[in-house]
Amino acid sequence: MTEAKSEQLTPEQLTGEVGEVLTSWPLYRVLSYKGKGGHYKHRGGVAGETEYTFAQLPKTLSLHCSECSHCTVWETGECKVYFKPGFGEAKYRCRNCGRTQVSYFFY
Ligand SMILES: [Zn+2]
Repeated sequence: MTEAKSEQLTPEQLTGEVGEVLTSWPLYRVLSYKGKGGHYKHRGGVAGETEYTFAQLPKTLSLHCSECSHCTVWETGECKVYFKPGFGEAKYRCRNCGRTQVSYFFY
């Protein structure tokens, strides 16, 4: 599924969009947005020669847990998804039972 966004997104808007997509869209979802206005950047390396680009994800999501049999809060330890060769990965774990985990992949 693809939903095209015509407008530029701010980082805050992108975080909100991604949270919505992760909780409400079916599997194999694609959110495409225009430009990189929603991405954060910071410089690293000895002289700041390396530029990292990342998107900020919501810290928690509300998802249905198969173990708990109801909607629970899912939490991720790492809110930043770095854009690098291949894909970025974010893992969310059910905070109620701590057993069920879901991974999202970002391209
Ligand atoms: Zn659970």
